[in-house]
Amino acid sequence: MAKSYDVIIVGAGMVGALSAILLAKSSLRIALIDQHDGEYLLSVPPAYDARVSAISSQSKALLESAEVWQGIDKSRIACYDNMVVWDGLGDGFIDFNAQVTAMPELGHLVENAVLNQQLMTRVRALKSVDLYLSDTLESHELSESRVRAELSSGQILEAQVMIAADGALSKLRTENAFDTLEWDYGHHAIVTTIEIAQSHQNTAWQSFGEEGILAFLPLPSVAQKHYVSIVWSVPPNEAKSLMALDEHAFCRRLHYAMNKRFDVLGITQVRQAIPLRQRHAKQYVKAGLALIGDAAHTIHPLAGQGANLGFGDVKALVEVLEKAHRRGEHLGSSKVLRRYQRARMLDNIAMAAGMEAFKRLFSTQQPLLVQLRNIGMKQFHRNTSLKRKLVARAAGLSSFS
Ligand SMILES: Cc1cc2nc3c(=O)[nH]c(=O)nc-3n(C[C@H](O)[C@H](O)[C@H](O)COP(=O)(O)OP(=O)(O)OC[C@H]3O[C@@H](n4cnc5c(N)ncnc54)[C@H](O)[C@@H]3O)c2cc1C
Repeated sequence: MAKSYDVIIVGAGMVGALSAILLAKSSLRIALIDQHDGEYLLSVPPAYDARVSAISSQSKALLESAEVWQGIDKSRIACYDNMVVWDGLGDGFIDFNAQVTAMPELGHLVENAVLNQQLMTRVRALKSVDLYLSDTLESHELSESRVRAELSSGQILEAQVMIAADGALSKLRTENAFDTLEWDYGHHAIVTTIEIAQSHQNTAWQSFGEEGILAFLPLPSVAQKHYVSIVWSVPPNEAKSLMALDEHAFCRRLHYAMNKRFDVLGITQVRQAIPLRQRHAKQYVKAGLALIGDAAHTIHPLAGQGANLGFGDVKALVEVLEKAHRRGEHLGSSKVLRRYQRARMLDNIAMAAGMEAFKRLFSTQQPLLVQLRNIGMKQFHRNTSLKRKLVARAAGLSSFS
């Protein structure tokens, strides 16, 4: 006997869980499926989780509307109101400040596990969401009129529409033959938490240099000691050697890669190396199915925008489905789902193209290009109106479309 819902969401990561919470507001009946058990073990500061996300103002507002942000322990959130980006091969730098856009801050940093845990706490409190955890999608059928899912536990679910929030390696995207533009960035990102001697000044620091792309992202201080989360993108061979270094040697490399701005005292979390790939589905929807978040697109983490784009997808899809529900339209019809695709694709492509251009621009060590790049950075640094536009865009307060 199949259980009947309005929406089946596959994947209860940040993007899938937030979709379930927001859709539940419109009294839609939702099934949320994840192979994970939905329990997130939180590390104890200063061993902050190695995976953190910079959350934009717009994403924070969305998480507040879902009553998720308010539940996060404030001692696990760091606010940053300044961002400094510089070229390690020259003297060009750009300083972005929240005051430029009259915003109280540029964004917040939160550990992924902390955010995921709070999302699941909120999901569990909702009567209209049924959770299928430690379970996977075994097979599925899609059509304009009905979708059907069979889970590995043997449960059979039916609904009007299915949402693929099953991440970068989305089975729903591949099994339904979504054409996807995909290439390797030729970079692995090393992530971990470190202690630094000087204050991070509530600033996100980013260096583009011979040593790769390195970000120091502020974390809350503990007992007046200072911590940052690092994201260090380097070619795979370099990542392998950096991962093999002992703690002392790794900290020394970080000190030099950050132009000696910070004394690096130690590592408080296990290092992870994550291969980086660009992916973009050429379509986000087919009859009965919509791709969102990393299932639809992944980008280089250099501007900390992947999850923010995913939350933008959630906002747009929820608005489209709520409106269709009020009008009595069938939620899985291609006509309805294409409205979501139209609302999101241009913005997501523009952000992906921007990240690619940035990554390529800073990958070259060709002297003439390095000189031009530094001149460009200095010009940009003096152009307040351009900086205001870029900051507003990164905060999700303006769009390309
Ligand atoms: C180094 C790095 C740094 C980053 N920093 C930032 C940042 O600062 N800011 C930012 O906005 N973004 C950042 N990102 C991007 C961000 O982490 C991702 O965009 C985001 O986590 C994607 O969330 P998601 O819910 O779409 O996918 P996921 O988090 O991958 O969730 C997918 C879920 O689907 C489940 N699942 C998969 N397949 C199945 C199946 N068959 N059946 C059932 N369940 C399934 C998985 O268990 C998982 O829970 C960063 C990424 C990297 C690599």
